[in-house]
Amino acid sequence: EMKGEFMNIAAHELKTPLVPIISYLEMMLHDTNLTEKQMKKMKICLASAKREANLVADILDISKIDAGSMKMEFDEVDLIELLNEASEGMLPVTEMKSLYLKTDLPEKLPPVKGDYRRIMQVISNLINNATKFTEEGGITLKAVNKGSKILVSVIDTGIGIQKSDLNKLFEKFFQVDSTARRKQGGTGLGLAICKGIVEGHKGQLWVESEGIGKGTSFNFTIPIFKATLLCWKSRS
Ligand code: ADP
Repeated sequence: EMKGEFMNIAAHELKTPLVPIISYLEMMLHDTNLTEKQMKKMKICLASAKREANLVADILDISKIDAGSMKMEFDEVDLIELLNEASEGMLPVTEMKSLYLKTDLPEKLPPVKGDYRRIMQVISNLINNATKFTEEGGITLKAVNKGSKILVSVIDTGIGIQKSDLNKLFEKFFQVDSTARRKQGGTGLGLAICKGIVEGHKGQLWVESEGIGKGTSFNFTIPIFKATLLCWKSRS
């Protein structure tokens, strides 16, 4: 408990000074009097500060999940709208690697009971990972109505995962050990956070891969909003 509390306080203390560092660096980069050399160094500082801010945000999220204190604002969420928004937002990331990013969505889906911002965090994380570990082909976002829940899948045509590692992926700080993967950086906290968020929605998150070179599919479920479920069932 004390370790968790320490992590939380340390992460908060690390986060506070990063706010002015990042904003001032962003402001200074707009200064037209900078030489090219100064600009380059400033950009490196900004990228490093942002990387640290992301790490601190991950540590704060995981300590909230561990303490069971991650706040969720549940509402009726339209997953079609969310997945389309995620796909548009992530397009620049996949386009940089010339990968496709497509959606395979039904015309309509009943709303789920969810926290829009947190589900978006899960999807963005999964698309980011898929982009990091895919060199050819691309990523498909899929959603299917499974009766009392919606099944969402992020399917990539990337490097895949060997069967013996599948269960370990959701452990904190776990990264599959290979040079190609280590080059991608990251903290190994992303999937543990995604799992915490999905389980906070009373859903499940799991991974499927036929093995190395055969792509990966991350799947999660989110329960349908109860009141809507009754109407939806009586209509069909
Ligand atoms: P990070 O990406 O910061 O290392 P994650 O928890 O998001 O941490 O992922 C843990 C590990 O799972 C990654 O380091 C990578 O080895 C593996 N992984 C995640 N997503 C994929 C994917 N789509 N394809 C292949 N490997 C993946």
